[in-house]
This record gives sequence, C-alpha cells and structure tokens, in this order.
Amino acid sequence: PPSGSGSVGSVTGGGSGSVGGSVGGVRRQSVQDFYFGRLIGEGSFSSVFLAREVSSNRELAIKVCDKRHILREKKQDYIQSEKRILVFIHAHWDEKRPFFVRIQSTFQDAQRLYFVMTYAKNGDLLKFIERMAQKDIDCTQFYAGQLLAAVEFLHEHGILHRDLKPENILLTERMHILITDFGSAKFLPPMRRAHAHPGEVNESRRPTDDDVDDTSDYSGEPPPKRASFVGTAQYVSPEILTGQPSTRASDLWAIGCILYQMCTGLPPFQSQSEYLIFQKIQRLEYCFHEGFDENAKDLVRQLLVIAPTERLGALDAVYYQSIRAHPFFMGLDFESLHEATPPALA
Ligand code: ATP
Repeated sequence: PPSGSGSVGSVTGGGSGSVGGSVGGVRRQSVQDFYFGRLIGEGSFSSVFLAREVSSNRELAIKVCDKRHILREKKQDYIQSEKRILVFIHAHWDEKRPFFVRIQSTFQDAQRLYFVMTYAKNGDLLKFIERMAQKDIDCTQFYAGQLLAAVEFLHEHGILHRDLKPENILLTERMHILITDFGSAKFLPPMRRAHAHPGEVNESRRPTDDDVDDTSDYSGEPPPKRASFVGTAQYVSPEILTGQPSTRASDLWAIGCILYQMCTGLPPFQSQSEYLIFQKIQRLEYCFHEGFDENAKDLVRQLLVIAPTERLGALDAVYYQSIRAHPFFMGLDFESLHEATPPALA
C-alpha cells in the first residue's frame, strides 16, 4: 500500500488539480488518515484496498490509481468522469435510494490518485447470481427493484450509467446493492436532462449542436465504430451497435439483460466472440428456458426491444412508473426497499 501524502497536483501534473479537494461535500483527506489493509480487487488501472479510517475506525474501500498509468492509457477522461459523477451522487444523496458506492473523499500525491469509498463487504451481484443455485424469484424481484430504483435516481438527474452489469453491482453487509464503476457514465447535455418529455429518447435524429457538450458521445464525427462502444459486450444495447448515442433506454436494455441473468444464471446474449454476441443482440436472438418465471419473461421481453423508444418505461413521464407497475414487481414495496431485509435464499 502507498505511503506519504505529497503535494497536490492534477492528473496531468502540477496545478491545483481537479481531482482532490472538497467539491460537493466530499472531504479532503490524506493517506495518513487511514490504515491500509489487504488488496480487495484490481481494475485495469487501479487497485482497491480495504482501509480503516483512523479517526472513526470505519472500514472503507480506497481505490488507488497510478497517474503515469492513467496518462499512458489516456484514461484521464474516464477517471474524471467517474469522480465527477461520484461527487454529484454524494452531493445529491437520497436516503431512500442509497444504492450507490458513496465517495467520502479524494486526494492525491505525486504518483497516485485516491478515491475513498463505501466498502461493499459482500462482493458483487455476479457472484451472488452464481451462488443462487436455484434461481430465486423473490431475490430476483428484490434486487431488480433496487436496481430499478437506483437507475431512476440516476436518470432523474440526467446521468446515464452505460455499463450496468452484475459485476458493477456490489453488495453491502446487509445485502443491499451499491452501484459502482461510473467511468463510462455521462451526464446528458442540459437540453436532454429535463424530466422525460415525449420523444426524449427518440434518438433516431442526428444530434444537433445543442446536444454536444464535453460529455456527449458525438462531436459531429461519424458514428463510433463497433470496437469503440462504451460498456460491456453482453449488455450493450442494439442502438449503440449501430452508432446511435446512448440514452436512458440503453440502461433499460441492460436492466433487461441483468433481470434475465438473475433468472437463469447467464446473460441472454452469449457467444464465442464479441462479434457474434453483437449479431445476436441485433437480431434479438435469445431464448427462455422452460420454467422461466412468466412475469419475469414478460418484463424481459418488454425491455429487450430493438427500438429504444418502445422499451417499457422509455416514454414514462415519471421514471419508471410503468416498470414498477409491471406484474413482475407485484407486492414489492418500492418505498421501503432501502430498509427492507432481502429475502432469504431458497
Ligand atoms: P475497470 O476499471 O477495469 O473497469 P473495475 O471497475 O472492476 O475495472 P475497480 O473499480 O478498480 O475496477 O475495482 C476493482 C475491483 O475491486 C472490483 O472488481 C471489485 O471487486 C473491487 N471493489 C471496487 N470497489 C469496491 C468497493 N467499494 N467495495 C468493495 N470492493 C470493491
């Protein structure tokens, strides 16, 4: 684990640094405020350590990113975006929808950036799904409900996650979800941020100049090549594969994939290569095994729809009342989900 807290510098070196500080109520701390423990996990340009805060004795997770590595991989935008969105979520914290890894502070030394976050003690949803030997519909309803509530929060604030998948859904000690990995996330440009209005997700038009800001997918360039999509192959929506910008409905597609996976153990679109997965996605080539819960099946069908605007919820004026009202969620009390005890595994 790292030691010493040097002077503050930006990712690119020097200056007051856009990472580090107390934006949006996120505190300034340094490595001396923590005892570093074991390595919890590693990402492509970060290591995550378990840590204990000296003053409070609380366990936390600290993500440590090597600045040179970030620069070498040209991931400054990814890191900046992740920080910006985590800080935003922290500043707009919703006690009734606390389904996000919460950033407590960020700081840096000469070599590294540090993100101090809630520690998710129980791994991720992928491992949990793998453990659910017999797929459990009560658990599926509970976690799909928390996921939906979390995505509602993001979308209400004009944030697209763009990489929703079970590995990015961590689990707390009481087995509630914490969404993480906002490196691919973005704020919608202001004109598309407003609460849904008819046609809001109609992205078949080419973007106008008003749509283009520093977080936009587009800058008047040709549509992205397949290789440059953001997200993960199995969960990417068909419109992204044809060069359309991502919208709220792209996250709804991912929810459909995750719901399917909770019911079966595997994502709906699988193949030996990304290319073949993309073909299956574009042809909507997936199937339901015998015994697939009927309500879940219907909801998956209504989310995995090629046309983004035709996905259930895509045109909701209030996110996502039509999904909440689907029979799959019957009996789930969304209002108390944040304090509910998860169903015991069958
Ligand atoms: P990449 O950056 O390549 O997309 P990643 O998002 O998995 O990968 P990190 O965010 O650095 O990378 O996380 C690495 C691993 O550390 C994760 O897979 C997860 O298992 C673990 N981890 C990350 N954040 C936490 C946390 N807050 N609590 C517990 N474990 C965490």
